[in-house]
This record gives sequence, structure tokens and C-alpha cells, in this order.
Amino acid sequence: MSVRAGIVVTGTEVLTGRVQDLNGPWVADRLLELGVDLAHITLCGDRPGDIEAQLRFLAAEGVDLIVTSGGLGPTADDMTVETVARFAGRELVLDKQLEATIADIVTRLMARFPNVDPEAILASNRKQALVPEGAHILAPVGTAPGVVVPGKPTIVVLPGPPRELQPMWPVALQTPAVQEAIAGRTIYRQETVRMFGLPESGLADTLREAERTVDGFDRLEITTCLRRGELEIVTRYEPDAADTYTALVALLRKHHGDALFSEDGSRVDDQVARLLAGRRIATAESCTGGLLAARLTDLPGSSAYVAGGAVAYANEAKAEVLGVDPALIDAHGAVSEAVAEAMAAGALARFGVDTAVAITGIAGPGGGTDEKPVGTVCFSVKLAEGPSLTRTMKLPGARADVRERSTTVAMHLLRRVLG
Ligand code: ATP
Ligand code: MG
Repeated sequence: MSVRAGIVVTGTEVLTGRVQDLNGPWVADRLLELGVDLAHITLCGDRPGDIEAQLRFLAAEGVDLIVTSGGLGPTADDMTVETVARFAGRELVLDKQLEATIADIVTRLMARFPNVDPEAILASNRKQALVPEGAHILAPVGTAPGVVVPGKPTIVVLPGPPRELQPMWPVALQTPAVQEAIAGRTIYRQETVRMFGLPESGLADTLREAERTVDGFDRLEITTCLRRGELEIVTRYEPDAADTYTALVALLRKHHGDALFSEDGSRVDDQVARLLAGRRIATAESCTGGLLAARLTDLPGSSAYVAGGAVAYANEAKAEVLGVDPALIDAHGAVSEAVAEAMAAGALARFGVDTAVAITGIAGPGGGTDEKPVGTVCFSVKLAEGPSLTRTMKLPGARADVRERSTTVAMHLLRRVLG
């Protein structure tokens, strides 16, 4: 038996693409973790007729659960609760206690805006205390409460701002109506394996082999995805197919041991962070313009091991900031392994660190030659105690891809040298 769900994302700003939908994918992940099959994500503007049409469609598809996002605010264009109530055939009733809660939140918020008439604000917020009869109320994180409306399908109504929606989800999940709606779900396990430096076709070959040789292979639900130059392989299975999954991973390890860098789903960024514990790193970047430093400092706690970085874009900067000999640049070109090594050595010295990584390349669209086409990027990793690794890669794609992919390659080289 399986449980199916649909997500209705509302909001004209999302429909027009001015705001990118973060709620559909986020709720989709949560449903996947739960073992609920997501059938559809639909997207519409703030018009009640359109919202109702989505609800009707999903209900006709026989989903057990609908999750909506957006349209819970105090303004006239926020109509989701009203629309859901009508759809579910329930009256809207004023919840006095909720009204008091919202009034309390709004009064505290309004203290910061002395020129606004608090009565007018309270009046418009009163609308948010109208809930479908018999619904379970989800306490507001902002000012907007959510509701869970029991039924077939059960409808979970959540606010649009992701920072409000996300904390309200676990609360919604605990309500009896949602628990009942998802009771028949299959409990799955989900594991992620990551590879680097393997084309998708190489993996496809191995998966074909697995189909023939791994016992019970069809019990594994495998999704592969190429992201940031890495292959992500997500497998979902019922717990009693665990041996089959173990056999699959063993086969991946046997054929692609070099490429397979994560069997527990950890990302290269996390692995590099762990490897940098007790060390100090500096970056020397040309074509990536600081993207690697940004990526290294993306993780909280990175101040423990990131000393800093230099963006040395012009040749003069490479010479002055990193001490690269101009004669070296003349002899080999700015995009060369010799210059990458000199940049890494310069970063080691300049920042007084024990780990340095340098990137110099041609991101395009101009600047390529026959010998060094667009996408040619030289990398060098150097450790103060001696080990180093220098590589030249031809990275595919347009300027943004080359720059982004370069940071991924640098992360993997770091992992190799430090590992
Ligand atoms: P509010 O009380 O803030 O009006 P609301 O529940 O009515 O909340 P919306 O009016 O639909 O929500 O959206 C408010 C803002 O939240 C949007 O302008 C947008 O910035 C953000 N937002 C809404 N939906 C999404 C979404 N699907 N993905 C990302 N951001 C969203
Ligand atoms: Mg709104």
C-alpha cells in the first residue's frame, strides 16, 4: 500500500518567476524521507478560482494528503484558508484564542513602527484568526497561523515564507489528521553515494551490469543526478532489501573506487572541512575570482581553518600579491601549471599557512587559444610539509559552469592531498 500526496504552491510572485519556489522542493524532500509518494507539485497565482482548481485536480487524482504554501497573510490577496475551507465544505469560524495570539504578536511588531495605527493593523490581522471549522491550528512562526483540515484528502495549509513554513512542517506532521492520512505509507531507507570524475555513461554501464548480477536489483529505486560536476546516486529501498543495496555499493566500489568519494552521503565540502581540522588554508584565485574562498567559508566554523585568500586576476596582481615571477608568466602564460604552483607557493608564504590551493584558467567566452581552449584550468595544492598536487583540466560549459566546476575540482584535489 502506498500513500500519495500533492503540493500546491501559490503566489503570483512565484508563478511569474520573480521569486524562485523553495517550498515545493523542500516539502518534496520531507515527503520522500517519510515514504510518501509525491504525485504532483502544482503552481498557481493568488486567485481563489485557480487554487481551487488545483485542489480539485489533486483530489480527483486520489491523493491522501495535500500541502499548500502561501497566501496566509493579512491582505486581501491572501485567500488560501478561505478557499480550502470552501473546498472542504467547512465554515470559517473566528478562533478567539488565536485572535489574541495574533494581536499579541502584531502589537509587539508594531512597537517598532510608532506612526502606524495599531487598530487598523489588528483589524486586517483579525482575518488570520478565521479558520475552517474542525481544523487543527498550527501556531504562527511569523504572524500567519497554518491549519490542518482533516478529510480525504487531508489538507495542510502553510505560509509562503520558507522561514515560516519550515518550522511549521514538523508540527503539522504530528497532528492526528496528518498521521492518519500517511498511516499506510511504506517506510523506506534512503542512502546517497557520491562520485567525482566519472561520466554518467560510465555509471549507466555499471547499473546495467548490476541489473543482471545483483540479486533483487529491482527492489532498489535509484535516481542519479549530475550536479556541480559530481554524480549523486540516491537509492530508496525497503529495509529488507538492505543486502541488495550493500551488493550494489560493493559493485560501484569495485568498478569506480577512484571516483567514489562518499558512501554516507557526506559532501566534499564537509570532508575537506574535516580534513582541514588543525590546519590553516589560504587560496590564490584567478579565474574563479574568490568563489573557492566563498565556498570554503560557506560552512559555519570555517574560521578555525581558513586564513584568507587572494584574488589575483591581473598578471601584476599575481606578481605583487603572490610573488609570482613575471618571467614565469612570460615563459608559460598566466594559465599554466608553473604559474599555478607559484601562486600556491605565494599563498603559503603570504598567509603563513600550511595548506594552499591555487586556480588559474580561462573561463571564457573569450581568451581561448588552440593550445589552451576555453575551459582550460590549472590547479595546484601545496602543503607546507612538502606534498603537492598540480593538475590541468579541460572543463566543459559556459563561463559560469567553468568557474563553478573549478571550485569543485579544487575541493577534490584538496581532499586527495589531505586524505
Ligand atoms: P505573508 O504573511 O508574508 O503575506 P503568506 O503566507 O501570505 O505570508 P505569500 O504572500 O504567498 O505568503 O508570500 C510571502 C512571501 O514569501 C513572498 O513574497 C516570497 O518572498 C515568500 N514566498 C512565498 N512563497 C514562496 C515559495 N514557494 N518559495 C520561496 N519563497 C516564497
Ligand atoms: Mg501574502
